[in-house]
Amino acid sequence: MKKLLLSVAALSSVIGTLAAGAAVAAQPVIDAQRILADIKVLSSDAFEGRGPATAGETKTVAYLIKQMQAAGLQPAGDPKKGGGRAWTQDVPLERFRTDGPVKVSVDEAGQTKTWKQGEEIAIRAAQTGQKRLTVKGAPIVFVGYGVKAPERSWDDFKGVNLKGKVALVLVNDPDFETGKGDFGGKAMTYYGRWTYKYEEAARQGAIGFLVIHETAQASYGWNTVKNSNTNEIFDVIRKNPLSAHAPLEGWVQKDAAAELMKAAGLDFETLKKEAQTRAFKPTELKGVTFSTDYAIDAQKVVSHNVVGALPGTKYPNERVFYTAHWDHLGVGLPDAKGDKIYNGALDNASGTAMLLELARDFAKGPKPQRTVVFMSVTAEEKGLLGSEYYASAPLYPLATTVGVINMDGVGPNGLAHDFTTSGNAPLTLQDELITVGKAHDRYYSPDPRPEAGSFFRSDHFSFAKRGVPAISFGGGRDLFVGGKEAGDAKSKAYTAEKYHQPADEYDPTWDPAGFVADGTLVFELGEKLANSRTWPEWKQGSEFKAVRDKTKALRK
Ligand SMILES: [Zn+2]
Repeated sequence: MKKLLLSVAALSSVIGTLAAGAAVAAQPVIDAQRILADIKVLSSDAFEGRGPATAGETKTVAYLIKQMQAAGLQPAGDPKKGGGRAWTQDVPLERFRTDGPVKVSVDEAGQTKTWKQGEEIAIRAAQTGQKRLTVKGAPIVFVGYGVKAPERSWDDFKGVNLKGKVALVLVNDPDFETGKGDFGGKAMTYYGRWTYKYEEAARQGAIGFLVIHETAQASYGWNTVKNSNTNEIFDVIRKNPLSAHAPLEGWVQKDAAAELMKAAGLDFETLKKEAQTRAFKPTELKGVTFSTDYAIDAQKVVSHNVVGALPGTKYPNERVFYTAHWDHLGVGLPDAKGDKIYNGALDNASGTAMLLELARDFAKGPKPQRTVVFMSVTAEEKGLLGSEYYASAPLYPLATTVGVINMDGVGPNGLAHDFTTSGNAPLTLQDELITVGKAHDRYYSPDPRPEAGSFFRSDHFSFAKRGVPAISFGGGRDLFVGGKEAGDAKSKAYTAEKYHQPADEYDPTWDPAGFVADGTLVFELGEKLANSRTWPEWKQGSEFKAVRDKTKALRK
């Protein structure tokens, strides 16, 4: 009963703010029930966790097209032969699966120990085009954080030859634990991301890198690692896959790695301390070797981005984008309850449902002067592949793409006084979001966990790294009910119990008011942009400014 009263009070406050802004702009009527209904459908077991190139994709794409059509959008995907456009953009991918058992063992001074896939270790299916990966008794080298950053005069490799060897590497970057140094202190640079570590493994010519899992440093638990690596893996189709991937890519539990070091007479904590300095040198684990053997099934598949648009009345060639990934992890290893379907209700049926609701609102209101594109992308969970493919083969010029507002996991936590973005971008688009928030008495909270490297973990990054102003919106944690403490507790509980696990399911106790409030902010930000002559810009010092500035002449 008490809960109900609070919700009503909270809702009337939202309505109050809406009324206050009514004179300046068209008002969205964000319907939380429609958002919840879409989340319910998209995250139902019938959609099988929305794995790309599965029956779940077929259902999801059909549902999204139907909703976009009903909203009144126009198809804005691939050009059709006879003219006009399809609702989708083909995204050609290669899918890799382990085929049969994954055998792993380590040899510690003559003693052979078996490691179990998903327990001590989580190995990805090799993405190098080979049918089988067989490694016999490979030497193991600890390479610290595995960072080669010439602009910071930092090189963890010091010329070591990793050919024919397996490297153990720490996750995050060298100053995460000390909180100070050349890698942004506690905030994660790209050097801290596991994607970077794998790229470096390929450049170093190693058999592969095993990333040592520690929960705080990775920002998620072992379950997340296990679930994201032991099922199928996707990549864009590459001419020379070995230039991007070493054959062996995987994670190892910290205790298992520490034990290997111990068997070689080394100490994990001591080695880690050394790795936090420039003087660090790669250390071979004497007397310890690594073996694995498994088969790989590789297949070319086509997944789809779903793209609809409302053409601008005055400046149709200038486009504001809303994006949200529709895919999730599909069907995978069962959890403790035996549930195998990774429903991805928050991640990211919620953002997808919000995208559909925004489309309905834009279509109903006064037509925007610039074109507004609504794009639901595939394969985010496989490494931002749908957005990466779009940005590498854009349907519309990136130079005149005004900005991208991405939604990934929009908040079911109820009303919040604040809101955030993934990573803190030095970008005027973020300033504009803050201004819109102020008009609704909401304040901006910087990314609460910059050490998690969120800026590199959502689809806006595929655009940002090519210079397009892009942000990922996130709900707040300073909740009307229970304040920051309640918000932090909800977020922690989600990460521990649901994130990338079968338990990320539709929850009938979600408070709809938060969806309305957050939807209103992202709507108004896009609407403002779509009816202005403003081109958002990266600020001085941003690594993405130079590439955007190159095409400045095309934006007038
Ligand atoms: Zn995810």
